[in-house]
Amino acid sequence: MKINILGTEYEIKRQTAKENCKLDDASGICEVYSKEIIIDTSAKDDKMAFNKIDDFFHKVLRHEGFHAIFAEAGASQYMEDETLVDMLAMLYPRIKVIMEQLDNAEIESI
Ligand SMILES: [Zn+2]
Repeated sequence: MKINILGTEYEIKRQTAKENCKLDDASGICEVYSKEIIIDTSAKDDKMAFNKIDDFFHKVLRHEGFHAIFAEAGASQYMEDETLVDMLAMLYPRIKVIMEQLDNAEIESI
């Protein structure tokens, strides 16, 4: 599938570590030059994988998505900040709820 990240199309695809050695040490990769976000979902078949593994895969996609957002924004310092990127990926579902509340606030009644 393809998604639009700040005006640039990124291909989202699945690969395994056998297909892409960059996945040896990572669950996902953001390739900012070839405009790809790659996720390894082979852990789905692992008996020791996280419970609710799809939630983990979505967190990985958000993590790689933030790398892409910062790359497309020209914010390479943030793009390379794994702590910041992972924190945003973890917090995003709660940030989204906060922003929806703020977006729906009746300005006149504040
Ligand atoms: Zn990362």
